[in-house]
Amino acid sequence: MLVREAKLKDGTPEQYQALDEAIRTGQFIRNKCLRLWMDAEKVSRAKMQALCKDLAQEFPFAKRLNSMARQAHAARAWTSVQRFYENCRNGVKPVGYPKFKKHSRSVEYKTSGWKLSKDGFHLTFTDGFKAGTFSLYCNSKAREDILTSKINRVRVIRRADGYYAQFCLDVERVEEGTYTGEVVGIDLGLKYFIKDQNDNQVIYPQFLRKSEHRLKKLQRRLSRRHRQGKKQSANYYKARQQLGKQHLKVQRQRRDWAIKQAQALVASNDVVVYEDLKVANLVKNHNLAKSISDAAWSQFTDFLDYYGKVWDKAVVAVNPAFTSQDCHNCRHRVKKSLSTRTHKCPHCGIELCRDTNAALNILRRGMEILGIEWNQGTGGHPETSEKSGTTGETPTSVDSGKLESVSGVAEPVISESVKTEESPSF
Ligand SMILES: [Zn+2]
Repeated sequence: MLVREAKLKDGTPEQYQALDEAIRTGQFIRNKCLRLWMDAEKVSRAKMQALCKDLAQEFPFAKRLNSMARQAHAARAWTSVQRFYENCRNGVKPVGYPKFKKHSRSVEYKTSGWKLSKDGFHLTFTDGFKAGTFSLYCNSKAREDILTSKINRVRVIRRADGYYAQFCLDVERVEEGTYTGEVVGIDLGLKYFIKDQNDNQVIYPQFLRKSEHRLKKLQRRLSRRHRQGKKQSANYYKARQQLGKQHLKVQRQRRDWAIKQAQALVASNDVVVYEDLKVANLVKNHNLAKSISDAAWSQFTDFLDYYGKVWDKAVVAVNPAFTSQDCHNCRHRVKKSLSTRTHKCPHCGIELCRDTNAALNILRRGMEILGIEWNQGTGGHPETSEKSGTTGETPTSVDSGKLESVSGVAEPVISESVKTEESPSF
């Protein structure tokens, strides 16, 4: 699935209000379905869908939302219930008990309730809310994709700077990747955003720090203007609007940057191994700086997975336990605190940057998962990986021995973490 987005413009305030009502109604249906699941026993997906019909009869405003859109919101409730069950089964914590939504920002239409104009410049909503026609603002590439592909869903999303339509297209994005024979293991850290086994590093950029700083400032301003137990002033709402816009700006900057980094890394390597931090972050640190990097990391790794799929490359997430403690050379565990920046091994005498050591360990774990024998440290550009595994069991011998393919990298079995099928865009 491919997601393309366009801004909904040129609507009257009444039209946008109609979109708001549709969003509220979608939320109402989802919450009602959830309520049913909480109260009754053995609620199936079909029961939730049947409830949609009853709700439409009982509440006139629910009837105004397109019937397939109503079903889509019942499906949302069902998804959150399913995720909860799945987490319980797999021992994932927190289990994420489904919650009622209070401030939903989107409504989802399936294949009816809207109409796209022939040239792709206008979108009209045709259900009972009568939101009418909006102009679609997006780049020409996105417009072409929207016009030429089958549209499975249309989501309307409210953001701090306006309303957007998201088109979920029935297209699998697969492109020809360039295969380089290189492998990389990366350590995600606070000092460096990422560091690989060859000591290459990417530092979290200053411009992102600056706008995050402004975010904190606006947050303080908003708290200052908040009046406990009284009606809020106009200035409070102004500050709230500014904060919302700044959040959006930071989000977009961070996302663009994460995409660029992930693209560059996957494009120049055939195998990318990173540590799956979700396992490590069970103990949450409430430091803001930390949470910001958390957000950037998970977005970055989501895009690594995504581009791995698009370009048919192996992107592997490994367990991060002890990656910075263990010696990559003799595998002895060397205890060190967070502030110790170098790894000094008393057993084999090796000395190097702690993050580089971690990257080496991460790379080894990834290679073990893929079943590739890997001898670190030797250079060269072996012509492995590009569909070499398809020839059979004979291991492709490699001039330098850097990457000896046993099972081949052409069709990687990505074990530990295979994430969502669709492009990570929210
Ligand atoms: Zn050692």
